[in-house]
Amino acid sequence: MFDYDLLVIGAGSGGVRVSRIAASLGAKVAVAEDTHMGGTCVNVGCVPKKLFVYASDMRKSLVDMAGYGLHVSDRGFDWPTLRDNKTDEIKRLNGIYDSMLDGAGVTVFKGNARMTGSHEVTIGEQVYTAKFIVIASGGTPFVPDIPGKEHLITSDDAFYLPVFPKRVLVVGGGYIAVEFAGIFNGLGAQTQLLYRGPQILRGFDQEVRDFTATQIQQSGVNIHTNADLLSVSALPDGRLEATIQSGDHTTIELFDSILMATGRTPRVAGLGLESIGVALSDKKAVVVNDYFQTSVEHIFAIGDVIDRVPLTPVALSEGMWLANHLFGESPKQGMDYSDIPTAVFSQPPVGTLGMTEAEAEATGKPVKVFTSQFRPMKHILAGNPGKTLMKMLVCGESDRILGIHIVGADAGEMLQGFAVAVKAGATKADFDRTIGIHPTAAEELVTMRSVTRTLNPA
Ligand code: FAD
Ligand code: NDP
Repeated sequence: MFDYDLLVIGAGSGGVRVSRIAASLGAKVAVAEDTHMGGTCVNVGCVPKKLFVYASDMRKSLVDMAGYGLHVSDRGFDWPTLRDNKTDEIKRLNGIYDSMLDGAGVTVFKGNARMTGSHEVTIGEQVYTAKFIVIASGGTPFVPDIPGKEHLITSDDAFYLPVFPKRVLVVGGGYIAVEFAGIFNGLGAQTQLLYRGPQILRGFDQEVRDFTATQIQQSGVNIHTNADLLSVSALPDGRLEATIQSGDHTTIELFDSILMATGRTPRVAGLGLESIGVALSDKKAVVVNDYFQTSVEHIFAIGDVIDRVPLTPVALSEGMWLANHLFGESPKQGMDYSDIPTAVFSQPPVGTLGMTEAEAEATGKPVKVFTSQFRPMKHILAGNPGKTLMKMLVCGESDRILGIHIVGADAGEMLQGFAVAVKAGATKADFDRTIGIHPTAAEELVTMRSVTRTLNPA
C-alpha cells in the first residue's frame, strides 16, 4: 500500500539510527536529508567542536612544556590549516554515513522534505508515501532580535570563519558559549564571554558553576555576567562595535567577531506539520508521548526537535528505542532518561551526572556531600595554577550515589565509567571498597572518606 514502511525526515544522530535499526529489523526504509549526512553533531556540532578543543588544548600545553624541560616555541597558529583539515575529516565522515545507510539497505534522498499528507512526504517535487513517518529534523541556532543582528555569527558559522578573529565576544552562558570561549581563548584570541545572568552554566551544580567560572577566567577568558548585548554595528574596517549594558552602565566595545550562543530552537519551519495536525509546544517543539508518537498516531518524532534532552547519545537512544518499538520487540518500558551523564568541553571540562547539590537537598532526605579540590599532578612541574574539583552526593539513607560532578582534565572520559556504576545502583560503600588506580585524578572518587557537609541532617 505504501512506498515505504518508514520514512525519516533528517539524517542526523536520531534519524540515521532509527533508519538503520529499522532496516536491520526488515523494514523498507527511506531517509531524507537536505544538508549534510550525519546532521548537527557530525557537521557543526560535537565532532568539529571537539577537534577545535583539541587544537586549543594543544596550544595551551605548549606553555606547560617548559617546566618539563621541553622548549618548544609557539610559532603561531594557522587557522586555515585547522579549519580545512577539520572540513576534510567531516567530509570523510559524511561519506561513511552514506555508505553505512547504503549498506543497511536504507534509501537516501538528498533534498528538502515536507509533509503534504498524513502518510505523504514530498521531497523536492517527488511524492512518497509511508506507513510510519519519523520527524528527526533537529534544531537551529536561535539569535535574539537586536539591531545589527546581521553582523552576528552562530556556532554554524564559527566552524567556517574566513579569518580567525583577534578579539571575540561570545554571548551566552550555556554549553556552546563556554566551549567556544575556551576554543577562541586557547587558540590566541582575546576572548570575552557575556552572560545575562549572575553565573554561567545555569542548571549545573552551583559549586561547579562557580569553580568552572573561576578556572575559565584564570585561563584568560574575560567573563562578564549580568550583562546584555544591546546592539551591534559594523565599522568601515570590518570591526564590530558592540553596545553592552551592565546594570545602569552602557559601554561600547570593538570586536572582530561576535558569536551568539544563545540557545537553539527545533527545526520545524517549512515541514508542514501544522497542516496535518501535528501539535507543537509553545517553544515550537514537536509534542510526543512516551512512545515518541505525535498527535497524529503514525507520525513520530525524536531528537532535538522534541526538545527533551538535546544531546547526541540521547537522540541515538531514542532512535534505537523507536525502531525496536515499531519493527522489533517493543521495549517493555519507555525510554529511561535518568542519570544521563554529560560533559561540557570547556577548558577545563565539566563532567556531570545525576543530581546537583540543590536538587539533592530538595529531596528532604539526608545527603552527604563529599568534595575535593586539588592541583592535578601534571600541572605541578608546569607551574599551571589550574585546579580540579571532584564532588559526590550520597543519599544518607540508602548510601546510593545521587550525583557526581568533575571539573578538570578528562572529566568526560572519567565520568563515563562511573556512570555505569551509578546506573547499576552503586553505593558509596561500593566506591570505598574499589581499589584506586595510582597516580590518577580519578582515584580521588574512590578515596573520598571525609564528609564535607551533610544536608538535611536527620
Ligand atoms: P540533527 O543532528 O540536527 O539532525 C537533523 C537533520 O535533519 C539535519 O541534518 C538537518 O539538515 C535535517 N533536516 C531538517 N529538516 C529537514 C527537512 N525538512 N528535509 C530534509 N532534512 C532536514 N551533543 C553531545 O552529545 N555532545 C557534544 O559534544 C555536542 N556538541 C555540540 C556542539 C554544538 C556546536 C552543537 C550545535 C550541538 C552539540 N551537541 C552535542 C548536540 C547534538 O549535536 C544534537 O543533540 C544532535 O545532533 C541531535 O540530533 P538530531 O538527530 O535530533 O538532529
Ligand atoms: P544552552 O541552552 O545550553 O545555553 C543557551 C544560553 O543562551 C543560556 O546561557 C541562556 O541564558 C542564553 N540565552 C538564551 N536566550 C538569550 C537571550 N535572548 N539573550 C541572551 N542570552 C540568552 O544552549 P546552547 O546553544 O549552548 O546549546 C544547545 C544545546 O546543545 C545544549 O543545551 C546541549 O544540550 C547541546 N550541546 C551539548 C554539548 C555537549 O554535550 N558538550 C555542547 C554543545 C551543545 P539562561 O541560562 O539565562 O537561559
